[in-house]
Amino acid sequence: TEHAFEQIEAVDAEVQAFLVLNKENALKQADELETTPFEERGPLFGLPIGVKDNIVTEGIETTASSKILEGFNPIYDATVVRKLREAGMITVGKINMDEFAMGSSNENSAYKKTKNPWNLAHVPGGSSGGSAAAVAAGEVPFALGSDTGGSIRQPAAFCGVVGMKPTYGRVSRFGLIAFASSLDQIGPITRTVEDNALLLEAISGVDEMDSTSANVEVPKFSEAIGKSIKGLRIGVPKEYMGEGVSEEVRASVLEALKVLEAQGAVWEEVSLPHSEYALATYYLLSSSEASSNLARFDGIRYGYRAEEAKNLLELYKMTRAQGFGDEVKRRIMLGTYSLSAGSYDAYYLKAQKVRTLIKQDFENVFENYDVIVGPTTPTPAFKVGENVDDPLTMYANDILTIPVNLAGVPGISIPCGFAADGLPLGLQIIGKHFDEATIYQVASAYE
Ligand code: GLN
Repeated sequence: TEHAFEQIEAVDAEVQAFLVLNKENALKQADELETTPFEERGPLFGLPIGVKDNIVTEGIETTASSKILEGFNPIYDATVVRKLREAGMITVGKINMDEFAMGSSNENSAYKKTKNPWNLAHVPGGSSGGSAAAVAAGEVPFALGSDTGGSIRQPAAFCGVVGMKPTYGRVSRFGLIAFASSLDQIGPITRTVEDNALLLEAISGVDEMDSTSANVEVPKFSEAIGKSIKGLRIGVPKEYMGEGVSEEVRASVLEALKVLEAQGAVWEEVSLPHSEYALATYYLLSSSEASSNLARFDGIRYGYRAEEAKNLLELYKMTRAQGFGDEVKRRIMLGTYSLSAGSYDAYYLKAQKVRTLIKQDFENVFENYDVIVGPTTPTPAFKVGENVDDPLTMYANDILTIPVNLAGVPGISIPCGFAADGLPLGLQIIGKHFDEATIYQVASAYE
């Protein structure tokens, strides 16, 4: 824990990953843990972790990188934060993100812009860009992120670390500030696949505080590490290897497949035919859910409140106008429109139907294959400022990660070589519902 703070001190002025440090408490907690008998110490005991700032932490300011939550001090811990504590882990601080997890570059934070530790002129990805950058820069060996459309996997790919989006329902969302409740999942970001499996074990499981958490057994994911992949069947979607995916990204995936093949796995081209509709479907559904979830930020209950309002309606309007950033407002407007009486059938309902088709695409492939493998992102990390004025190009970054959230299946990104400019690339491995174990097995075979 001391080392984590030393490293943060040394590099965070440049990387800008942390919003709040929990130094005094963390060091005190570390001291107290010293008295725990050795037999009672689990594999993650005493290890420092950084927590994405949309996960609430009792007594530590939590803003989801939004001005509207400035000064909000939660009165309870998210279930995952409680579980970290029970595992003996030490929360060293809260980590920067795109406001309310909306974004792919960390440029949508109201507070600071995290940089990519591999090259500070580039973005770390988003929305969990701060978490991935903190791990890549050696500030913490473990971090929590959240993934609604790629927000764990895309920054993991951009920063050369391991990031897992678990099956929807695997990890409790209690205490995760909601973006799109039917898509959001919390997951681990780490340097190695084994660390990742251990952290997922610690945070998984049914929770009476989240009715969408699944009552299914939590296997020891770490036991899958190093298991033979002989005979394992891999599907490689042609839609993930075609147009829009850069040549070096494609080449790195083909190299990785060779490594897996050499260990006895077999791979074949498959098709996820509705992939081309995933981006539109995701932005309609996620924005619709966000417009409803974000209605609670009204200046009355949490954080920021506009000072000059003369009556209640004005208070709502001014607080929201001043408190939300541009991207969040864009999504609230799109979502409100798609849910309104005149457009509901044409947009929201239609998108729900397409979501079912996308889910069926995955189910069809998984009848014959154990995992699906492809790139995490079409390109390596782009430059700071490059896409800020062009939301559509920014959205297209998530084209390979979004279908996984719509289907609810788990997916990981692991480091997969480097682009010519020295930036890391990511390999995405997607599994069946609740089969994170096979993902870790394949990931460790490549790692
Ligand atoms: N970049 C995507 C978006 O802006 C995904 C975000 C996420 O997964 N939280 O919505």
